[in-house]
Amino acid sequence: MARIVQKYGGTSVGDVDRIKNVAGRIKAARDAGNELVVVVSARAGVTNELIARAKALCPLPSERELDQLLAIGEQETIALTAMALHGIGVRAVSYTGAQAGIFTDKVHTKAKIRTINAAPLEKDLADGNVIIVAGFQGINDDGQVTTLGRGGSDLTAIALAAAIQADKCEIYTDVDGVYTADPRVVPAARKLPEISYDEMLELASLGSKVMQTRSVEFAAKYGVVFEVRSSFNQNPGTIVKQEVAYMEKVVVRGVAVDKDQAKVVVSSIADKPGTAARVFRALAEANINVDMIVQNVGRGGLANLSFTVPLSEKDRAVAALAPALRETGGEVAFDERIAKLSVVGVGMRTHSGVAATLFDALARAGINLELISTSEIKISVVIAKDRADEAARAAHAAFGLDAGA
Ligand code: ADP
Ligand code: ASP
Ligand code: MG
Repeated sequence: MARIVQKYGGTSVGDVDRIKNVAGRIKAARDAGNELVVVVSARAGVTNELIARAKALCPLPSERELDQLLAIGEQETIALTAMALHGIGVRAVSYTGAQAGIFTDKVHTKAKIRTINAAPLEKDLADGNVIIVAGFQGINDDGQVTTLGRGGSDLTAIALAAAIQADKCEIYTDVDGVYTADPRVVPAARKLPEISYDEMLELASLGSKVMQTRSVEFAAKYGVVFEVRSSFNQNPGTIVKQEVAYMEKVVVRGVAVDKDQAKVVVSSIADKPGTAARVFRALAEANINVDMIVQNVGRGGLANLSFTVPLSEKDRAVAALAPALRETGGEVAFDERIAKLSVVGVGMRTHSGVAATLFDALARAGINLELISTSEIKISVVIAKDRADEAARAAHAAFGLDAGA
């Protein structure tokens, strides 16, 4: 008997028939004698729909009220999944995040999990029930409902696997593993049998939505090995685990594209100590993630700052920057017609020429680079959004990642 945490994403529980399919898979694992804790997402599209409704009523909704609203998406699927299991004779109990003892900090819409009190859940598990937990949600010390950031059901699953010392953690989705690029964008992408936490983390944070970034961070920190698999077939998936020596032999493991970014240009601010600090403190205090910062010195003691922010945070960034710019001077402009393209691989630590290969491939395709940033295991460039898919295919081919290459 093994203790297994399974997570089913939004497409996997997208309608009644798919919930039945999930229930059948849970039953098979239960009948094989395993203990099961199952995390489910909201039905595909529901979280987006709820956000759209909130914004139709109020352009900058209160984040507390957003969390109250968004939590209902997952609350629907836990109850329906439990009922589907009852319908086929499997004992199951549904739990909201709060009922599952998932305690978070107070940052609404992207709360961090602080502790999990799994005692109530353990009791129901010991009584022979399958436990169905609402992904993406928790509760803070003030008793307020919080959510864990988009894609946060992955985090719920991985944190629960750590908390209850599960033998296995399986993330079921609509693709049968992690590919060298999003297979919807790069048809020649190949499934990876395994990938290191560091590479998965970079790919996720650079736009590969197959795993939520924070969930991978959590898995790396607590050593939770997990497998990404499909809920629609029985194919083996991708194992995500600690790096092992041979992984460095591959220079580029994968390519990521993020189209949900905006470029911000703050122009003509005073070129003196403290200006950049003032601008970025304002964004930090609003909990806005900033990336790819470039400063150019302009003329007459004025400078320009360019950086990227998630598109979903653009309106809050505008609001946060206004008071700072009244102090520093300068103007802000946003460009939403951009995308971030990145190549990732632990092999970059020991191989040279990766930037040249990427820039050559993009130059041959006639694609202009607007911002560039590098780290030990990744290179990212900002390019025009309408060229992003083409750029991803060019980079994928240039690093020999295409299937059959
Ligand atoms: P879920 O609802 O199950 O959490 P997501 O939509 O969040 O599913 O993630 C699965 C999707 O991630 C796939 O449909 C695929 O288009 C996308 N994706 C992006 N990059 C990759 C990649 N490198 N490998 C596999 N899938 C990827
Ligand atoms: N329903 C949430 C979202 O769409 C969480 C998740 O699916 O993981 O972001
Ligand atoms: Mg997801």
